[in-house]
Amino acid sequence: MILGNTYVYACPDCQFRVSKRSVRSGTRMDATYYSDLRIDAPGYPKIPLLTKCEQCECIFWLDETTKVEGAIVSEPLRFYNDLDHIQEVQDEKKNLAFGDQLEVHPAKELDLEGIKDALFMNVQRDCEEEHYLRNLLLWTYHEQLQNGAILREELNEDLDYLENIDALLNLLADKNYDKDDDNNPHFFRTELHRYAGRFKQCMKILRFRYALKFWHPNVKKMKQQCRERNRDAFVLN
Ligand SMILES: [Zn+2]
Repeated sequence: MILGNTYVYACPDCQFRVSKRSVRSGTRMDATYYSDLRIDAPGYPKIPLLTKCEQCECIFWLDETTKVEGAIVSEPLRFYNDLDHIQEVQDEKKNLAFGDQLEVHPAKELDLEGIKDALFMNVQRDCEEEHYLRNLLLWTYHEQLQNGAILREELNEDLDYLENIDALLNLLADKNYDKDDDNNPHFFRTELHRYAGRFKQCMKILRFRYALKFWHPNVKKMKQQCRERNRDAFVLN
């Protein structure tokens, strides 16, 4: 992984500053791809696109609108795996962007409740941002399921989880996709129905959209999951 500059961002409400590093390039060679479109890539750090202010709890996007002028310049490009060391080096190179703070800490990713708050507070400025937040919410639920923080039975009854699935389906319905496009949303649409336990609906889309792709390993896997009435995301081939 090659890191780029680290930039400082200010909370629009109270000006509290946090930092966010940029990545020039990373590898996704060892990545695991899931059917909910989640990518688990150990060689590619997760960098938050928005965060919650530690001082006033305002949720804001880490983008050009909140970026403070002047970057914390990173060391010459190095192939490091030791992120803590890089952060230390960068923290030493303080500049005016710190405002009246002695130190600036990396922006934290939103947790499950934080993502729900962001959606509730309408921080999304367009459909793309809503899509991003709703995918993030789905993935955070699925990660919690994977690491045992929530049980499948609890998730099946979680109204926020189910409402988010329907909101994602609505967002997908509003988009115009070329049906021959490899990134067409039907696979994901089918999966969303399956996560919500609507297996009939899932099979219907599979029959209609993938009639000619029944041999595809991922389509076979999805059919199998439907037959077993399994609602979990699976690893793609
Ligand atoms: Zn703040």
